[in-house]
Amino acid sequence: MKSMGFCIFNNVALAARYAQRVHDLGRILIVDWDVHHGNGTQDIFYEDESVGFFSIHRFPFYPGSGDRSETGKGKGLGSTFNEPVKYGTTRSQFLQKFRDGLQKAAEAMRPELIIISAGFDAHKNDPIGDIGLESSDFATMTQDLIHVADHFCEGRVLSCLEGGYHLEALGESVRLHFEELCRASTPKEG
Ligand SMILES: [Zn+2]
Repeated sequence: MKSMGFCIFNNVALAARYAQRVHDLGRILIVDWDVHHGNGTQDIFYEDESVGFFSIHRFPFYPGSGDRSETGKGKGLGSTFNEPVKYGTTRSQFLQKFRDGLQKAAEAMRPELIIISAGFDAHKNDPIGDIGLESSDFATMTQDLIHVADHFCEGRVLSCLEGGYHLEALGESVRLHFEELCRASTPKEG
């Protein structure tokens, strides 16, 4: 295994193992909405049934992996979920694919924690990614994810920043993502 792209250490993989070893969690689901397929994360957990991986990404695109037929191997068979999306797909279609794929992955994994590989390079202004999303779409995906986390794991969500190469779009998208996470972690009235 070696580093490629813009990554040396795999933050979400380290976080997942840390959660299992230090916090005694069993099943974890990593949700990767970075526009590039999370090939490193997929590889690390490809034969591991305890860490599920769901990636939605532009395809065909760098790094070339992430076909729907890549679903895991050995004990990990059925714990990798890939949702490749063609350039030109509408925002509403993309969001529907995200929602459906996330639900399917969560039902299969029944996670005790969800970790987000939160890349923002699917934004329409991103110079190296871009699948046409608006900043507000990241808020929508965050809401979907929180809804699933509430159902399966008492709302336990951890978010790690991944890609995002248009600084204004990145800043705005991260802010909207954070606002949803903060709203969800504020105790509800009554
Ligand atoms: Zn990326």
